[in-house]
Amino acid sequence: MTELMPPQMSGGCRNAPVLKQRGQREVFCGLTGIIWLHRKMQDAFFLVVGSRTCAHLLQSAAGVMIFAEPRFGTAILEESDLAGLNDAHAELDREVETLLARRPDIRQLFLVGSCPSEVIKLDLNRAAERLTQAYAPKVRVLEYSGSGIETTFTQGEDACLAAMVPVLPKTDARNLVVVGALPDVVEDQMLSLLDGLGIDNVQVLPVRTIDADVAVGPNTVFALTQPFLGDTHAALTRRGARHLEAPFPLGEEGTTAWLSAIATEFDVSAETFEQVTKAPRRRARAAVAKAAAQLSGKSVFFFPDSQLEIPLARFLTRECDMRALEVGSPYIHDAIHGAELELLPAGPQISEGQDVDLQLDRCRAQKPDLTVCGLGLANPLEAEGLCTKWAIELVFTPVHFYEQAGDLAGLFARPLRRKGILADKGIAAA
Ligand code: SF4
Repeated sequence: MTELMPPQMSGGCRNAPVLKQRGQREVFCGLTGIIWLHRKMQDAFFLVVGSRTCAHLLQSAAGVMIFAEPRFGTAILEESDLAGLNDAHAELDREVETLLARRPDIRQLFLVGSCPSEVIKLDLNRAAERLTQAYAPKVRVLEYSGSGIETTFTQGEDACLAAMVPVLPKTDARNLVVVGALPDVVEDQMLSLLDGLGIDNVQVLPVRTIDADVAVGPNTVFALTQPFLGDTHAALTRRGARHLEAPFPLGEEGTTAWLSAIATEFDVSAETFEQVTKAPRRRARAAVAKAAAQLSGKSVFFFPDSQLEIPLARFLTRECDMRALEVGSPYIHDAIHGAELELLPAGPQISEGQDVDLQLDRCRAQKPDLTVCGLGLANPLEAEGLCTKWAIELVFTPVHFYEQAGDLAGLFARPLRRKGILADKGIAAA
């Protein structure tokens, strides 16, 4: 079957030279992922094994919950633990025992490593195995690292999902696993589109509860909804599943291309595809066009942060008529980002990794209309007169699939509009 509605190629950046830099970087650590993962996985608890700094980061990023007990916490490593004076494993066992006795609703417990636990080489893998034996089958205990020793904050979700893959049941059935944490409302929209295309046996990772029947095997194909899932991609491939390479479902074009890759795999007819996608495609195009008026002709510079940079640059250049100057990403995997790079119009500097001072020099020299960067860089750059967008907001806001395409464009238009209003009033943006 020929590919359904292939996007127009642009010449692309897949073979463009990549500037690779390794130096000081400015990003949040992988613990941040707990904020959206604990909302998604309703019977999970994330126990960070870390310091008071880790606890403060989580508490301030998540806000304080008043009406519900949070499903994350920190087992604090005190100075005596860090000095090796205590048996950290025995203390962890005690913490877990108290937690599980108090919270019988917990079915999945994630021990999350941090910088301090890695520095003292606390073996959380061994702890997870020991605790699984103690609490199975009621509670499954897994571990992953969320430490700032990793490169960027979205690696927390990747590490969490990758940790789940080896314990998923095996199946020989032909199924589609959609991988990546999406807000429930967006996930439901996606499932409804796939259902409309007649694709059944669809499962989602991460699952909302442990009882959901996601399984993998040699007849499994999987599609990623997030571009930062390199380790999960590798783990699923090791289980025999096959990745459907596609652009990501961001914007009208990305969503159509993503659905098209799945529809092609499952032999969906062109008529059915057209029937299911025609109306939402039209709605998405109209919504994007509204916000894109503010963006058209403007330049954009991406610092590497969320790993969403390449798909976002593709969306902003192709659907919103922006011009990308530099597109930086913490990591570039051809198997994951190749389809996106092919669509990204030639021209921008593609960069991988970061040496923040050198990159700031490049950014200042080019004076982009909009700079997408982490929180730590945004305020200083605003003070220098550059207009910025916080990259982390793009991970916390529903932006995937057709119905969110207009909101996605709107997120980039807002700071430019704000700057314009302030300029009209003769006030410099602060
Ligand atoms: S894991 Fe590391 S970077 Fe993250 S809050 Fe803890 S100490 Fe800080």
